[in-house]
This record gives sequence, C-alpha cells and structure tokens, in this order.
Amino acid sequence: MTIQSVGVIGAGQMGNGIAHVFALAGYDVLLTDVSQDALDKALSLIDRNLERQVSREKISAEDKKAAMGRISTTLRLSDLGKTDLVIEAATERETVKQAIFEDLQPHLKPETILTSNTSSISITRLASRTDRPEKFMGFHFMNPVPVMQLVELIRGIATDQATFELLHEVVRKLGKTAASAEDFPAFIVNRILMPMINEAVYTLYEGVGNVKSIDESMKLGANHPMGPLELADFIGLDTCLAIMNVLHDGLADTKYRPCPLLTKYVEAGWLGRKTGRGFYDYRGETPVPTR
Ligand code: NAD
Repeated sequence: MTIQSVGVIGAGQMGNGIAHVFALAGYDVLLTDVSQDALDKALSLIDRNLERQVSREKISAEDKKAAMGRISTTLRLSDLGKTDLVIEAATERETVKQAIFEDLQPHLKPETILTSNTSSISITRLASRTDRPEKFMGFHFMNPVPVMQLVELIRGIATDQATFELLHEVVRKLGKTAASAEDFPAFIVNRILMPMINEAVYTLYEGVGNVKSIDESMKLGANHPMGPLELADFIGLDTCLAIMNVLHDGLADTKYRPCPLLTKYVEAGWLGRKTGRGFYDYRGETPVPTR
C-alpha cells in the first residue's frame, strides 16, 4: 500500500504543523476541526509559516504554492473516510479522541491506517475501540512540527509490522527521523520532559525561585535552549496537566502528582501562549513573568 492522501483531525497547534509538513512533502491533506475559525486560522498560519521558509530560502515560492494547493479543509469528519492515512491531533482528552474514532469508523476504507498524535494516552486502549487495532499506531510529532526533527512511532500491542514499516517510510519521506517507543504512559519524550516541567512548577510553587530565575537557571546552567516554564507555555499548560495526569494514573507513583499551581493556571484558563497568558503574559510587546 502507498499513502497519498492524509486526513488530519484537529487544526490547532499540532494539526496545522502536521498539515504543513505533509503538504510540503507532496501528500494531499484534508484538515478537519469542529471549529471553522480554527480551520481558517490554521490555513493562514500555514501560509505565513511557509512564507517564512521561502524568505529563508529553505523552499521556493513554487514549493509553497504547490503545498498550499494540496491542503483542503472540511467541517465534516466523515469526509476523511476516503484518505489513506488519518492523523488525529485533537484536544488531549481520551473521551474526545475515542468519540472521533467511533464517529469516523463507519466511513473508513478498509485499508486506511489510523494514528493518533497523542502525547500520552494509551495507543493500545485507543486502538482497541476501533475495528482495526493492527492498523493503528501512535504518530507523535513534536512542536513546532515544521522545525522539530523527531517523530515518535508507538506500536500498540496489536499493531502489525507492515503498519509500522509504512509509517517509518512516511517519516523518512517527510525528511524527519523516527524513534520507536513502547506503548507505556507518555512514551519516551514526555515521560522524561513532563516530570521536569512539573518539578519546575513545584520549584515556583514552593518559592525556591521565580519564573525568571527558574528559566534562566535551566538555560544558562543546564544549557537548555528554552526554560522549562517558557517551554510549558509553548506546549500549552492544559496539555502539560493532561500528560501529568496520565503518568500519575497510569504508573500509580506519587512522584508524578501534578503540581497544584499547574492545575490552578489551567483552571484560570491561563494555558500559555495559545491563550495569551501562562507563566508569562504575552499580551504586550515582550513576555512578562506572571510570578
Ligand atoms: P490545540 O488545543 O492547539 O488544538 C486542538 C484542536 O482540536 C482545536 O482546534 C479543537 O477545536 C480541535 N478539536 C477538539 N475536538 C475536536 C473534534 N471532536 N474533532 C475535530 N477537532 C477537534 O492542541 P494541540 O497542542 O494541537 O494538541 C493536539 C494533540 O497533539 C494532543 O493530543 C496533544 O497531546 C498532542 N501534542 C501536542 C504537543 C504540543 O506541544 N502542544 C506536542 C505533541 C503532541
């Protein structure tokens, strides 16, 4: 089987980046969301990000035009049934993702491969609710997708070798590098990254440091390109909290308990860059720490 058409579900931070890289690599992309506004914003963001690549001479103006021409949008999930590969990149909530796969299933071609870009939810469990667990995989892109080199490939217990190899080849065609992870909570990247971010929030919560000193310490003292709180704002604090909850529930170890301050920010709707405020306030010219 060869993959030519790709359906992307969710046009948020990750969905627009995924649509961008697939279209640039020559795939036909059909992007869907529950919100027309999210679809419109995604298209204009992809246009802007491709334009930036043109101005940096990474791609030509013709490449950009061709890529934009390969992306279409729809509000009807069922339209994605005709695609060869589906990548679900909707909100990090298991009930949302399960409902999506349930609604999509009756419209799918028998050979369509199903994947989820989930950062942490069990691939085996998501797959078990579909009619094709052997053709279901975790396909975990990193943010921002056009920039980050890694894609984690996560096999569920039932995923067959042909599906794994097919997706491995797709990653190669995108010009990215695949790392294979077993299906345990949060896989590899977030199993290591999220407890560090959560610990940074505890460090803030306990008053060991403030936002500026914590981020500066990790940038200058551990050579991280971004501070952990800046990175949390970039990822989205709701996503960070959801991943900590998956680690805490799935591994039943108190070392993964989400920091109450992280919960408080999420309850306030201060979700980071995407809502204009998180550990930093992004509403002015330059980001200002909120603590
Ligand atoms: P986001 O909040 O930016 O976007 C989610 C989008 O999903 C929204 O546009 C929303 O309208 C849409 N949506 C919600 N329910 C839907 C439904 N039923 N059908 C179609 N669309 C629906 O979130 P994001 O940061 O793009 O995260 C999406 C997924 O990618 C999550 O599973 C997350 O864990 C994963 N992920 C995120 C990052 C990151 O750094 N943010 C990195 C890797 C993976």
